[in-house]
Amino acid sequence: MANTPYPQSYYAASANPVPPRPALQEEVQTDVCVIGAGYTGLSSALFLLEAGFSVTVLEAAKVGFGASGRNGGQIVNSYSRDIDVIERTVGPKQAQLLGHMAFEGGRIIRERVAKYNIQCDLKDGGVFAALTAKQMGHLESQKRLWERFGHTQLELMDQKRIREVVDCDQYLGGMLDMSGGHIHPLNLALGEAAAVESLGGKIYEQSPAVRIERGANPVVHTPQGKVRAKFIIVAGNAYLGNLVPELAAKSMPCGTQVITTEPLGEDLARQLLPQDYCVEDCNYLLDYYRLTGDKRLIFGGGVVYGARDPANIEAIIRPKMLKAFPQLKDVKIDYAWTGNFLLTLSRLPQVGRLGDNIYYSQGCSGHGVTYTHLAGKVLAEALRGQAERFDAFAELPHYPFPGGQMLRVPFSALGAWYYSLRDRLGF
Ligand SMILES: Cc1cc2nc3c(=O)[nH]c(=O)nc-3n(C[C@H](O)[C@H](O)[C@H](O)COP(=O)(O)OP(=O)(O)OC[C@H]3O[C@@H](n4cnc5c(N)ncnc54)[C@H](O)[C@@H]3O)c2cc1C
Repeated sequence: MANTPYPQSYYAASANPVPPRPALQEEVQTDVCVIGAGYTGLSSALFLLEAGFSVTVLEAAKVGFGASGRNGGQIVNSYSRDIDVIERTVGPKQAQLLGHMAFEGGRIIRERVAKYNIQCDLKDGGVFAALTAKQMGHLESQKRLWERFGHTQLELMDQKRIREVVDCDQYLGGMLDMSGGHIHPLNLALGEAAAVESLGGKIYEQSPAVRIERGANPVVHTPQGKVRAKFIIVAGNAYLGNLVPELAAKSMPCGTQVITTEPLGEDLARQLLPQDYCVEDCNYLLDYYRLTGDKRLIFGGGVVYGARDPANIEAIIRPKMLKAFPQLKDVKIDYAWTGNFLLTLSRLPQVGRLGDNIYYSQGCSGHGVTYTHLAGKVLAEALRGQAERFDAFAELPHYPFPGGQMLRVPFSALGAWYYSLRDRLGF
């Protein structure tokens, strides 16, 4: 059977050592079979184990092989859609529940890191940087909105203040969220996997779920084994393919690219980001960056609809980095990689249940580090019979992409081009 390695990322090169995990080669029985060892799967597994369920995790490649081991590492709270838009779509009662949960994922990550002593370079502080007056106005209204839901920790920054936290002259201002921050994402996933195993959970790598036999006693088949379970959690996100056809129709895998510089040294690193906060700008196709534990700059941006791998990632992302930081023109790029996230038309997560016992959460459309941790908690609650918060997500409406499977990629690219043009023109 093929052994799928990690992509050649900075994260894989600096991963904490872990023991090899076997492929499933027998038939096992468990309360819950989780498909996918990214944050959604691992967070679900951990909450379920803590609640007394037995859990078996099947991972097609390796723990954190997908977006969870490749992302920008930014702990960005809330959803990929503004809460006022959500409120207009679903009404005030459901919006209240979703609004209250919006900053919980960051807390869950911090609790996990502390409780299981996960070494993942956790740092506090995330900045949303405004490039235009319109974006600054949007941040001001966002802050007011979040305060309505009880989230009062956000600080608006004027032009002078934002220059104190990032050495970039493009920004007119911004907003600081000290409940945001950043992590080494693969080491977070590896630490969570170790926590799963410390509670008796089983993780099989190189063990793709290739077929689900549905029914009262569902069975998940892998190439060489099977898992009989009471419940199944589908957490394969953008890497799931067509295992569950109902889910594929209303979501679209998209690629996004990341580069990592050589180590910058303490002085240059402190000059760029003196407080070591992470930053994302407010454009529709946004740029995001932060320092690593060993003082490299990780810079990401752009979207490839349909998740084709671009030939030369450095050629796409380096100019964006130099636009923000021309002072890095002589700095070498040591790593460049791509990863897939799952987009929905509404940019809200797709959550629900198929039949009585197959649960899923996917498609958080960009910002997923915090949401996926919350999703694990909400799915575990639902399996324990407390479905109020699960229902708040499950009732979010989802629609197929215009153009269907054939034309959804060009239609979405056209939409993104239109919104990026608006960003560039400042309206
Ligand atoms: C390059 C990049 C940068 C990003 N940056 C940020 C960021 O800075 N901040 C932020 O909030 N979000 C970011 N995101 C989004 C965030 O990383 C994701 O939303 C989140 O990690 C998704 O987690 P997940 O567990 O749902 O999916 P994944 O992490 O993709 O995990 C899915 C797992 O399921 C496995 N799998 C799939 N199918 C099967 C199967 N049939 N059988 C067994 N296993 C299977 C896959 O191998 C994979 O390991 C970024 C995403 C990318 C790609």
